[in-house]
Amino acid sequence: MESQQRSPLLEVKGNIELKRPLVKAHSRLPLPGSSFKRGRDQMEDVVEPEKKRTRGPGTASKFAASQPRAPVRTTVPPTQGQTAAPKLPKKTGLRCSTAVATVLKNQKPGPAAPAQKPGTAAAPPKLEGKKPSKRPAWDLKGQLCDLNAELKCCREKTRTLDQENQQLRDQLREAQQQATDLGAERRTLEGELSRVRAQAEQGQQELGNLSAHVLELEERLSTQESLVEELQKEQLGLQEERRGLATRLEEQEKRLQASEAALSGSQAEVASLRKETAAQVALLAERGERLHWLEMERRRLHNQLQELKGNIRVFCRVRPVLPGEPTPPPGFLLFPSGPGGPSDPSTHVSLFRSDERRGTLSGVPAAPTRYDFSFDRVFPPGSGQDEVFEEIAMLVQSALDGYPVCIFAYGQTGSGKTFTMEGGPGEDPQMEGLIPRALRHLFSVAQELSSQGWTYSFVASYVEIYNETVRDLLATGTRKGQGGDCEIRRVGPGSEELTVTNARYVPVSCEGEVEALLHLARQNRAVARTAQNERSSRSHSVFQLQISGEHAGRGLQCGAPLNLVDLAGSERLDPGLAFGPGERERLRETQAINSSLSTLGLVIMALSNKESHVPYRNSKLTYLLQNSLGGSAKMLMFVNISPLEENASESLNSLRFASKVRVPPSPGPVRTPG
Ligand code: ADP
Ligand code: MG
Repeated sequence: MESQQRSPLLEVKGNIELKRPLVKAHSRLPLPGSSFKRGRDQMEDVVEPEKKRTRGPGTASKFAASQPRAPVRTTVPPTQGQTAAPKLPKKTGLRCSTAVATVLKNQKPGPAAPAQKPGTAAAPPKLEGKKPSKRPAWDLKGQLCDLNAELKCCREKTRTLDQENQQLRDQLREAQQQATDLGAERRTLEGELSRVRAQAEQGQQELGNLSAHVLELEERLSTQESLVEELQKEQLGLQEERRGLATRLEEQEKRLQASEAALSGSQAEVASLRKETAAQVALLAERGERLHWLEMERRRLHNQLQELKGNIRVFCRVRPVLPGEPTPPPGFLLFPSGPGGPSDPSTHVSLFRSDERRGTLSGVPAAPTRYDFSFDRVFPPGSGQDEVFEEIAMLVQSALDGYPVCIFAYGQTGSGKTFTMEGGPGEDPQMEGLIPRALRHLFSVAQELSSQGWTYSFVASYVEIYNETVRDLLATGTRKGQGGDCEIRRVGPGSEELTVTNARYVPVSCEGEVEALLHLARQNRAVARTAQNERSSRSHSVFQLQISGEHAGRGLQCGAPLNLVDLAGSERLDPGLAFGPGERERLRETQAINSSLSTLGLVIMALSNKESHVPYRNSKLTYLLQNSLGGSAKMLMFVNISPLEENASESLNSLRFASKVRVPPSPGPVRTPG
């Protein structure tokens, strides 16, 4: 920029330089004190003596001071003047000579004149000497005339030069002013320049920062570009997918249209169906009403049937011979078929026992005595758990209908009571006993009845009565295996309902929960068994299920307990062992068992004979079960029999006991136990 635009400062300088030669040209002007001044003075002295005289002393010096740059051309050598002189007309030359002569004539010595030495008059001869050829030395007038002309010429030039000088001075002032202005301007510009430089530096710094930023951005741009590429690829893929989806959408729309058409058709159908449904609902309500009536009728008839069958029933179950046990002699136990032939369920059992004492006395082996018993049902050894349950399912149904039910398992130890009630060992579902089967049946029937508006709830408890003390088999934690802290109490004063204090009553609603409870009871029995040997066989296990049913719509309620009792072993005390060491405790146990079992027998018999006094309170077992025995309650007793000949005596006792509690009494020989 600087090279293109010339700064005003430089312009001024250039002007000054341009003008300088002029000044230099003027520098040729005589300087004060130079020899030239002297020459002029000399000239003035020579040319204008008259003026000197008129102005007086000092005027000459004053003039010299005011006219320092007097006629330049005076430097012209005399030869020049001489060369110019011939050009002048002669007349003029004559006149000049006359003027000089006049001056010389009127010349008086001034104050300076006296100072002039006589030698000074020798100056004119010097001039004269230079122009000897033109003017004769004596032609002073002519010479004077020439000089005057020359002087005039010089004055003219002087004036011109003065004017020029004045102009130059003006120009110089102007230039100086300009220079001052330009100086100020320069300072301003310099300030501006420094500011601009600072700005430029700052700009540079910013530029550096910006370039770093630019680099960073470029890097990011490159990554963004690769990302963009990826995205573009992805976009392509998505576009492809979108096209596919659009096609599918079209298809779906077509199908939707078809569906909508079908829907409108269906809606009409729905409307007609709604009408139909309303009619059906009315019909259903009517049928519901009828169903309820039928259900109530079913309950009534069911109960009637159960009552006809007998509120007290006895089933006999003979377990199979177990592996490792001696095979009983053929015909030891017989199961005569019913009047309907072999397909008729058996209700009779015959036991053959040879009386050794009679044979020994006569010496001839006595023929075995046949003991026939008749029960409501007899299950020979091959009968399965399901077959047994089928027979009692109706009784379980009675419990759901609101009738208390008691099912006992009676028999000597090892005859299959626990197997019948709880089931066999292992996980085989075929081996499941009455308790899990009965509960499963109850849950399923309750579920069915819920559609008719019935809601059922079940609460289970499981206690053991040993030696006339009650123990909770569902106890957990620190109470596990402990016993004797439970008591049978009425729920409240004046209430008929009984409860076992400190025993757990657990709500159950599914098979899994019942399984868990049976498992817990088995564990509790195992803990007790280590403390007292085979205690379980000498205790009664009572599983109680409180059933509560409600029909909220009709304000109906029904509730009854279902009791499943695994009785203690009915075997009598071996007389040979009764008085042995340590047998006193066992004797007491056996007496307690026999007492409670005989009390049970007495209670049942009193009930079947409809006696006014029923001795419930004579044992803990009958006391606990008093609300489930008698009245509308249904009772079923399983008499479990061992198939072994060695147990014939105990089997006979069990059969006799069971026959006694059965109504009507069996036709076979009956002997009271003990
Ligand atoms: P209890 O409870 O009367 O003392 P258990 O129920 O413990 O007798 O039965 C004794 C043994 O006989 C057990 O091993 C049991 O599995 C078996 N048992 C009992 N009844 C049957 C049966 N009907 N079928 C197969 N095994 C049986
Ligand atoms: Mg048992």
